[in-house]
Amino acid sequence: MNDTVGRLQQLERILEISRELTSTVALVPLLARIVDTAAELTESESASILLQDKRTGELRFQTATGDRSEQLADIPVPIEGSIAGTVLISGEPLIIRDAQADPRHFAGVGQKTGLEIRSLLAVPLQVKERRIGVLEAINKQDDKVFSQEDVEILMTMAAQAAVAIENARLVGALRDAYQRLGQLDKLKSDFISIASHELRTPLSLILLYAAMLREDLGEGAKAQLDPVLRAATRLKGIMETMFNLRYLETGQMDLAPSRFDLRAEVQEACKDYETLAGTAGLALSSSLPDEEMPIYADREKVRVVLDNLISNAVKFTSAGGHVRVALCRRGKDLEMSVADTGIGIPGEDLERIFERFYQVEDHLIRRQGGMGLGLSIVKGLVDLHGGRVWAESVLGRGSRFVVVLPPRIPEIASVETGSPAPFAS
Ligand code: ADP
Repeated sequence: MNDTVGRLQQLERILEISRELTSTVALVPLLARIVDTAAELTESESASILLQDKRTGELRFQTATGDRSEQLADIPVPIEGSIAGTVLISGEPLIIRDAQADPRHFAGVGQKTGLEIRSLLAVPLQVKERRIGVLEAINKQDDKVFSQEDVEILMTMAAQAAVAIENARLVGALRDAYQRLGQLDKLKSDFISIASHELRTPLSLILLYAAMLREDLGEGAKAQLDPVLRAATRLKGIMETMFNLRYLETGQMDLAPSRFDLRAEVQEACKDYETLAGTAGLALSSSLPDEEMPIYADREKVRVVLDNLISNAVKFTSAGGHVRVALCRRGKDLEMSVADTGIGIPGEDLERIFERFYQVEDHLIRRQGGMGLGLSIVKGLVDLHGGRVWAESVLGRGSRFVVVLPPRIPEIASVETGSPAPFAS
């Protein structure tokens, strides 16, 4: 075989590995292919990859040709007093003609495996500036000496192996991070579960006794008790939010559908927020159809949706602004919308605000209260009804939240509760 043809074939093999490298994520078989090809192209008896153990600092065999991998894996190779260690420290390839005569040679491997090491070529495995291990070829055929060409081949293979190892490390780190995130998420959910459950009974008692006490008190004392009742009622609202979230998350949220007039429900919700809007210096108006808007849905949950959207609109609009609630038919469906002239939402956040705990402004610096849960509950409830919800906004000019509900819940999501039969849509 002439030299040029031989060289071309070598390059072809290296390219093959390159292609595998970009198409595979399984590190072990890929490294095995790399050492096999390295041994073949350098005409060596065997080849191996050693990586530095971050904990102990020693080198450890990661993979080797033939069936010695397992045996080798148990042998720690010291950095001081080994050829691999010398290459790891210096970062320079090393050709050894006669390993047994070289004082840097580590005899432990030969003793434990019975492999007689004569000649050796070692090159560093490097990821950017970081050296992570060594690729070695052992015993060139016919006791020839490793050439400069062998060094080049091994360096190329080492670069491929280093990329593969780094990719695997990054994928591993990403997987770990996801796992940790999952654990944190679970902790958060568990905390919400426990906290809302533990708070429920004492809070109900406070509300019950405060209400009873209020009846027995004179006018002056009543005025003092009212803030207590208001605060407890607000707490109850927060806990209901937590409960809703928990049930939605665990898939335990059942719908209790009934037939009702959505127009009346929207009207009532607007009425309930008139005082709050007035106190905040806002105009709250509604645009409702002339006729009733019958719907077969879970009335309480639809109300939770409306309450969240209207209270957000009031919360994020400053005095002098306007909140407008509208209801209309959209084909067969019903469309509710809550528009405000408030602070608006940046375009990149328009979808994320429906995620749990997501708030556009940092919780610590913003002026408005809230837990960042309302919209995720809105989305969960609308989804359960087979509807859609989205936000439109111009930053600094205002936002508009739109909810489209089908006239009746799709079969799969509905849970009959003995309410009147749904009307045909
Ligand atoms: P919370 O209001 O408790 O923070 P939500 O889930 O209801 O939580 O809303 C998430 C975030 O979406 C809010 O923190 C706010 O940044 C943004 N947002 C919601 N509604 C509006 C609105 N009408 N105008 C401006 N921003 C809004």
